Amino acid sequence: MTRQNECKRCGTCCEKGGPALHTQDLPLIEKGVLSFEKFITIRKGELIHDPVSNSIEPVKTEFLKIRGIKDSWTCIFYDKTRNGCTIYDHRPLACKILKCWDTDDILGLAGRDLLSRLDIVKKGNPLRERLIEHEELFPCPDLKTISRTISRSSKKTVKKLERIINKDLAYRIRAIDEFNLSVSQELFYFGRPLFQLLTHLGFTARETSSGIKLRFPQAPSSSAK
Ligand code: SF4
Repeated sequence: MTRQNECKRCGTCCEKGGPALHTQDLPLIEKGVLSFEKFITIRKGELIHDPVSNSIEPVKTEFLKIRGIKDSWTCIFYDKTRNGCTIYDHRPLACKILKCWDTDDILGLAGRDLLSRLDIVKKGNPLRERLIEHEELFPCPDLKTISRTISRSSKKTVKKLERIINKDLAYRIRAIDEFNLSVSQELFYFGRPLFQLLTHLGFTARETSSGIKLRFPQAPSSSAK
């Protein structure tokens, strides 16, 4: 059997998710090829698949990732009808060096030179102060511990989480109103809402007149994307 040594344009990599962005990608942002609306911020503490250890681990340093199409992780620049990248000549570094048949280079890049929000939201932009404040007020909780103890969570713990997720939401709504942010911009400036991160652990979230209520899961899962 011949060993694969080139991209077969199957689209699997792009469907698994857009790339993380690195300092080498800054010119793409400066030239306007990539805009904030195309990013999602993965905040410190969120649980993701660590390609090096091949396990689900909390993120040590926040990073930016090209967001997915609708609710999927399929890269927003992937055109399924043509099995191709719509920004191929300007694709980010991680896409350029990715070789699915030989992952040494991409694993060598993992976790290095990552771009964060503060690298690209310039001083003087009022949203810079706002995202710093949001990070201080609503850091990502210890999701790994929560996922381990989720089935034993007391009512008090769930109530405490509910208070935090509702305050996080209220903060976002105020910022959305004040700065007229789209959903995409919100996901860049503030990352995913805390209630969404908890639902990935198995909690169910229900909207009520007094805010979002969380429920114990029947069958908790131990991982989140
Ligand atoms: S930027 Fe292009 S090459 Fe990279 S994951 Fe998206 S569609 Fe694929």
